[in-house]
Amino acid sequence: MCGIVGYLGSQGAYSILIQGLKRLEYRGYDSAGVALIDGTGSLNIHKAKGKVANLEQTAAAGNTDGLIGIAHTRWATHGEPNDINAHPHVSQSGNIALVHNGTIENYAVLKQLLCEQGYTFKSETDTEVLVQFIDYIHASSDCTLVDAVRETLLQVEGAYAIAVIEKNNPDRLIVARKSSPLVIGVGDGETFIASDATPIVGYADKVIYLKDNELAVIERDKAISIVSIDSNTPTKIDVQKLKLSLAQLEKGGYDTFMLKEIFEQPKTLRDCLRGRITDNGSRVVLSGVELNKETFLNAERITLVACGTSWHAALIGKRLIQDFCRIPVEVEYASEFRYSNPVLGPKDIVISISQSGETADTLAAIQIAREKGAFVYGVCNVVGASIPRNTDSGTYIHVGPEIGVASTKAFTGQVTVLTLLALAIGQLRGTADSDTVKSVCKSLMQLPEILEETLKCDPEVQKLSRIFTYAHNFLYLGRGYNYPTALEGALKLKEISYIHAEGYPAAEMKHGPIALIDHEMPSVIIAPSDSLYDKIISNVQQVKSRGGAVVAIVSRGNTAMNDIADFCIEIPEVPECLTPIVASIPLQLLAYYIAVGKGKNVDQPRNLAKSVTVE
Ligand code: GLU
Repeated sequence: MCGIVGYLGSQGAYSILIQGLKRLEYRGYDSAGVALIDGTGSLNIHKAKGKVANLEQTAAAGNTDGLIGIAHTRWATHGEPNDINAHPHVSQSGNIALVHNGTIENYAVLKQLLCEQGYTFKSETDTEVLVQFIDYIHASSDCTLVDAVRETLLQVEGAYAIAVIEKNNPDRLIVARKSSPLVIGVGDGETFIASDATPIVGYADKVIYLKDNELAVIERDKAISIVSIDSNTPTKIDVQKLKLSLAQLEKGGYDTFMLKEIFEQPKTLRDCLRGRITDNGSRVVLSGVELNKETFLNAERITLVACGTSWHAALIGKRLIQDFCRIPVEVEYASEFRYSNPVLGPKDIVISISQSGETADTLAAIQIAREKGAFVYGVCNVVGASIPRNTDSGTYIHVGPEIGVASTKAFTGQVTVLTLLALAIGQLRGTADSDTVKSVCKSLMQLPEILEETLKCDPEVQKLSRIFTYAHNFLYLGRGYNYPTALEGALKLKEISYIHAEGYPAAEMKHGPIALIDHEMPSVIIAPSDSLYDKIISNVQQVKSRGGAVVAIVSRGNTAMNDIADFCIEIPEVPECLTPIVASIPLQLLAYYIAVGKGKNVDQPRNLAKSVTVE
């Protein structure tokens, strides 16, 4: 994870870097740091444990001058979060400063080699090895710094996006990437670099997404040059227009990004659906399917790979694809799939799902799937990210930047796209009944209004949350389409309130978790009026008879549940396959208000970061 930012231009770098770090803070907030070269040629480093605000306090007392600088917000992988392990790291010579996002897998071997050459280390990080190795090659072989960076990267196993500056050269920024993202913002006489485009918004509207295995040299008043790290030959530079706006990055009057993103869902799903349902609501058109009809017609199996919340979306995707396409479907954690020696061939389609499009495990899973000849489809939010660039085809969810670490609008966007995908493939293969398609399309088109309606439960959920603020454990139960909804509801609560919560298929509860139920363990039961409603009623009874409190999410007008459950939250009635989208809204709100009631920072929960770009 980690966020890196860099600047080279004619403005004071410090404030641009700090603002950039704040926009990237969702990627990690264990520590933050900045390195600047001032007009006298001195390299000044400021670092602080914790959030960017701490760094600002620390740096206030020092020299923050300079028209060039690099900065970092850390999500620790090697070494505890403290001031010393904070980036930037500086070479023993004091000449080179570096920030890094990723992990260096062979750092121990390289460190040993450097120690034998007399190098000593200050931090416990893998990153410090990089900067010392660059210094070592630069000093010992008399090559240029750019060559030393490239030579070092050739020795490195692992993942990195790095930015490097040299004390004696305030006019040059060197950046490179492999498996971790890096964007270059091209302004007027100034250049920005960042882990994603958010720090660049408002400063430059042209961007270059550095590709894997590329190294870029950014020099004052010169054109950017990019080479392949392996071959040292120039690569094609693709300058794109940046489509993000400042308004998309702000809280828009809400207390937190998470609440803004929950309430944005009617709009984000409208954006997600735009132009994808045609012919008077009877046909789903996804270009990724249209352009690959033969592949989808001939597919014998679909495997969905994802991590975290996206994996929950994948579980719902499995039901959708099975129902509408009648193709065998499997769902895998990307982190397990990549090491499972999967049996795949040309008749396999692998659908990878990731909000950021940078999830390291999902990217590795994609690579394996492609090597084995499968057709790889991506479902992603961030335009231009690594997943869309490394898949055969795909669909963006188009829900706008998601900044709250706990995913909300991306989840409903993913499930919406998977619904569209299942319908599109089902239509193509002739397995989806046209009346069913029409009825689901009709509800999909009404989803923005349906979600507006659903969000009206906000005051009721807020009130309810107060009853549960001090619960230590929660059980979330659902069946069929809503078993994954239960998993997602439990994950939301865990992530932001730190209350232990387990999601379970409601009928499985009697095979274990039922032993946990007592008056101190509430259960949230997702029980819309669907094909399994009668079944779940008996699961609710089982919880009640053991003294557990029950919060039931039910379809509007269901009065029967009032007699059994302690609390009922009503959601609008929709076709069964769309119930996870609608039922997720009260679950997001419940987790949100419980966490806020406990005084937690919902946008930046402890130990978590938004896009997991490390293994
Ligand atoms: N491995 C580096 C560290 O621990 C960077 C971590 C990251 O990118 O998440 O500091």
